[in-house]
Amino acid sequence: MPCYRCGVRQTDPERGRSPWRRGVVHDRLVLICPGCQESADWTAELERCAKCSSAHLIRRLGQVECLDCGLIREPEASLVLPRGAGVPSGPADTSLADEVGRALDRLLGRA
Ligand SMILES: [Zn+2]
Ligand SMILES: [Zn+2]
Repeated sequence: MPCYRCGVRQTDPERGRSPWRRGVVHDRLVLICPGCQESADWTAELERCAKCSSAHLIRRLGQVECLDCGLIREPEASLVLPRGAGVPSGPADTSLADEVGRALDRLLGRA
């Protein structure tokens, strides 16, 4: 997924250490590259948490979650884009659900 501001591609595939930041713009998860984070207004377009005003939001499982205070917000229906309209989705969005599913399978002896 490229930087949503300048379109540069993420080159560091390592998870957890990336200097890239995630954010939510118009109910879409976006990535911001380290270069764009140096501009003073790089969070100006990002959605803010209604509770703590943090721009440190992520979108997953159809909801927007604040990573600072944990507030979860349902997306506005009018902003939901149709499938295949370029809505970004990363493996991070589904890996947890897959993991839970596999754990349930093991518990139920279905694996
Ligand atoms: Zn950028
Ligand atoms: Zn918050």
